[in-house]
Amino acid sequence: MTIATTGMFPTRAAIDGDRLWRSLMDLAEIGGTPKGGCNRQALTDLDRQGRELLTRWCKAEGLTVRFDAIGNLFARRAGRNDTADPVVIGSHIDTQPTGGKYDGCFGVLAALEVIRTLNVNGIETERPIELVSWTNEEGCRFAPCMMGSGVFAGQLTLEDALSRTDVDGISAGDALKAIGYMGDDANRPGRFAAYLEAHIEQGPILEDTGDTIGVVTGALGLKWFDVTITGMAAHSGSTPMHLRRNALLGATQVVDAVNRIALTYQPDGRGTVGALQLLPNSRNVIPGQVTLSVDFRHSESDVLETIVGEFRKTLDTIATETGLAIEITPTADYPPQHFDTDCIAAVRQGAQANGYAHRDIVSGAGHDAVFIGDIAPTAMIFIPCEKGISHNESEYATPEDVAAGANVLLHATLNLSGAKA
Ligand SMILES: [Zn+2]
Repeated sequence: MTIATTGMFPTRAAIDGDRLWRSLMDLAEIGGTPKGGCNRQALTDLDRQGRELLTRWCKAEGLTVRFDAIGNLFARRAGRNDTADPVVIGSHIDTQPTGGKYDGCFGVLAALEVIRTLNVNGIETERPIELVSWTNEEGCRFAPCMMGSGVFAGQLTLEDALSRTDVDGISAGDALKAIGYMGDDANRPGRFAAYLEAHIEQGPILEDTGDTIGVVTGALGLKWFDVTITGMAAHSGSTPMHLRRNALLGATQVVDAVNRIALTYQPDGRGTVGALQLLPNSRNVIPGQVTLSVDFRHSESDVLETIVGEFRKTLDTIATETGLAIEITPTADYPPQHFDTDCIAAVRQGAQANGYAHRDIVSGAGHDAVFIGDIAPTAMIFIPCEKGISHNESEYATPEDVAAGANVLLHATLNLSGAKA
């Protein structure tokens, strides 16, 4: 799908950074934590309060607010050609239990700020604009993450999503009904002309390079595996070194191989062993079995395949050399996402027009935009966050970078929606 850009729009309009910052801080008070973060998990009463505040702000701008059956919020600003496919902008407002003020909220409130700016400046757009706030992006109370955008994009069914339960056995469906935000799918916009999501980077690259804007060209694909290494549990005193089959020793080679293979495919290769279980996990027993998790990521499908092929070959070699049995089980597989060329160009032009230092970047984390990218022309805008820290109460982005990201969103939205002053 491609969309024509008009190139006709007022470039001098600029967002109000103070107004945007105030809204970010106001929303963060709902679920605010003593350490300055935010705990506003999906489908809780605090989520309800956050949704109410956002709805109030949207209505104050004259937007038509609706919810679909999984509780995704859509707030519409009419276009001159109101039957045209809308440009959709937003993110999510749910947080991790020890989340920050910016993850997700920045994208939704930057979208709101874009609309406030259009209203203040009396700018009409050819296409309608829809602000969206996706339900349960974080997935901490109800798995999986990116639930609302996942249902919207057909990654999982509505029934499946609504039947997921939290640790207390409450279903997502019941929780959604309890907060009063189960809407109707008739409320959804149809096809999107474009989807743009502004977000903090949640990584250290922009801070490292000194760039203000990341022009996000796509997202890394991932392949996850469980690897089980089986040797022989035996007494650590009575078994001589040369007669051992130590599964943990084999595991150290696997951990090293994952790291080494990822390092050969830079800059986009990632390889991580993040979880390890030892059997019997006893001080005076040689480990008989180790199960470990493997997480490989890359921006290109064929490279990801090559990485996994190399990994499997290395495991064979380790098994032969050590006499250990090694079993590998795939547990997850998501292809890389390549965003839409026109949407990426609109973001890049937005950064250039505002004179912001920028670079192309590939998202290493999952986002609603990654699912929406499968069904609509999509791109993302990243801004730096301090030390790359996110999903943490100390998450921080500067007011200047927050304003810059919103200005790029404004520019790209005007570009893609065919604005007239
Ligand atoms: Zn997020």
